[in-house]
Amino acid sequence: MILPNGVKESDFKTAISKFENILGKENVFTDEKDVFLYRDAYSSEWNEESEPIPSIAVAPKTVEEVQEIVKVANEFKIPLFPISTGKNLGYGSSAPNRRGDVVVDLKRMNKIIEVDDKRNFCILEPGVSYFDFYKYCEDNNLNVMMDIPDPGWGSPVGNALDHGWGYTYGMYRDHFGAHCGMEVVLPNGEVMRTGMGALPGAKTFAENKYGYGAYVDGLFAQSNFGIVTKMGFWLMPKPEYYALYSLTTKRREDIIKMVEILNYLEDSFIIGWPLYRSPLNPPHGKPMNPELESYLTSKNGKPDLEKIQNYALKNKIPYWQIDIPIYGNKEAVYANAKYVENRFKEIDGSEFKLVQEFALPLSKEDISKMKHKVSLGIPNMEIFWLSTRGEVLEPQDGHVWFSPIIPRDGKELLKCQDVYIDVFHELGMKSPITPFAHPRSWMYHAFCFMLNFGNSRTDIEHNKKLRAAYRKMIEVAAENGWGDYRAAPTFQDDVYNVYSFNNHILRRFVENLKDAIDPNGIIAPGRGGIWPKHAREAKKGGTK
Ligand SMILES: Cc1cc2nc3c(=O)[nH]c(=O)nc-3n(C[C@H](O)[C@H](O)[C@H](O)COP(=O)(O)OP(=O)(O)OC[C@H]3O[C@@H](n4cnc5c(N)ncnc54)[C@H](O)[C@@H]3O)c2cc1C
Repeated sequence: MILPNGVKESDFKTAISKFENILGKENVFTDEKDVFLYRDAYSSEWNEESEPIPSIAVAPKTVEEVQEIVKVANEFKIPLFPISTGKNLGYGSSAPNRRGDVVVDLKRMNKIIEVDDKRNFCILEPGVSYFDFYKYCEDNNLNVMMDIPDPGWGSPVGNALDHGWGYTYGMYRDHFGAHCGMEVVLPNGEVMRTGMGALPGAKTFAENKYGYGAYVDGLFAQSNFGIVTKMGFWLMPKPEYYALYSLTTKRREDIIKMVEILNYLEDSFIIGWPLYRSPLNPPHGKPMNPELESYLTSKNGKPDLEKIQNYALKNKIPYWQIDIPIYGNKEAVYANAKYVENRFKEIDGSEFKLVQEFALPLSKEDISKMKHKVSLGIPNMEIFWLSTRGEVLEPQDGHVWFSPIIPRDGKELLKCQDVYIDVFHELGMKSPITPFAHPRSWMYHAFCFMLNFGNSRTDIEHNKKLRAAYRKMIEVAAENGWGDYRAAPTFQDDVYNVYSFNNHILRRFVENLKDAIDPNGIIAPGRGGIWPKHAREAKKGGTK
């Protein structure tokens, strides 16, 4: 059996029987075939000694059970790693940061506590998935929708706690930003409510974020200060009408003006989430046109921008295509579309056209025809299936996301392409970034220019090379002022390291908090680059 860090086998056995008394034997998973289900299926350290496989997993059902587990953990100094639905693939999945730490799987805490479709909020437990939430709203004919990520099997709580994002209006799309109110079991086993929830009997737990005094909610995301057992979220009312338009332009540089206009339209709530693409990329799973592909390396191994542009013009392939959703009532949607079309007339050669439109409520047939189901909060696994394989023909074993945040600015995007291409050139690797690569997605006010590094379950050398390339990318991005917003445990220390303003004052500040709040270092050691004191010292001594 893998043991938790620093815990004697005899103590661990006693702790396991205490966990079994609290939860029942059936909710304490010690058998290897159960425990291995919590391995990170996309681990870039697969089958290496450092691969973070838990010792056991425990699955509480109530807040009181979570408190009891935390108390036992303190007694024996057993590190715990909480997950909600544990679907964080690409960013660590359900595995802990460190081999041997005990996973606290909150899937059984799956109560939908409240949904209000007049005041537009909900309060959920961590085990509620996006599918569960959607079904509940549909079954109860509620006129609200939740902003969701691509894969529908994750949870609003887990996703928000890793700063996840979705696809409607910006204020809902930032999932942590759209949360309101939290209940947390602290490392000493006490239950705390934040914001208005700190007022006993508060009526606005999920409506007003701040309550009174210091705002502490941020401490519980991408960190290790407690186990979140409830969260409120703001919800978007379903619109009466939805239409999807498509904007195309001809030249690479058009992106500069396009971004400027789209920023205005988005921030004024005239449009929803604009999806940037380039039709020069082949459809998912199809190879790139060989002529175009040859231009990616035809200038001493680097792309020939002129030849790429000429290829697009000659073959009448737009350089950029933006899918633009508009929400509202029918008249407002049409009026806004007219306005949007006029705004883009200043870009020579741009074309704007309607792709599809729907009146709500949607029929099953409408849903099956929808191009971007996520833009109306309809959970699915379509994109998940495609991306799992990478956007290449060869199936991959998984991937880790590299997710730097860059300014929402066309010039900076083009610069970012150049910088990425140079890095891969230096590394002697084929660049996954091309001169027509686009932001994968974005938070409210910034682009996220992500790429996925495909890993292997069989080729450890490949994974080592991948890790070196990833680490290089973190450094180069930081030199340019771009910082990752999220990372798999393998890279969390590296990412936090570059957030180094004033001699790492941010890290030193949270480390002080960690020492005060969790002196035994039992909650998620290493999560978000924050280590408890004893592990920090051990690392300095070179043991990690
Ligand atoms: C192809 C593909 C597409 C994706 N698309 C998106 C996307 O569009 N948007 C997006 O945001 N993500 C996306 N992801 C990433 C990921 O799949 C989702 O973010 C997913 O929702 C995360 O899983 P989860 O909700 O089950 O969170 P979990 O895995 O349960 O939690 C995430 C992390 O938060 C912490 N945590 C969870 N619950 C608690 C708790 N109760 N208390 C304290 N800490 C806790 C844990 O450390 C955990 O590792 C994508 C991944 C893939 C592979």
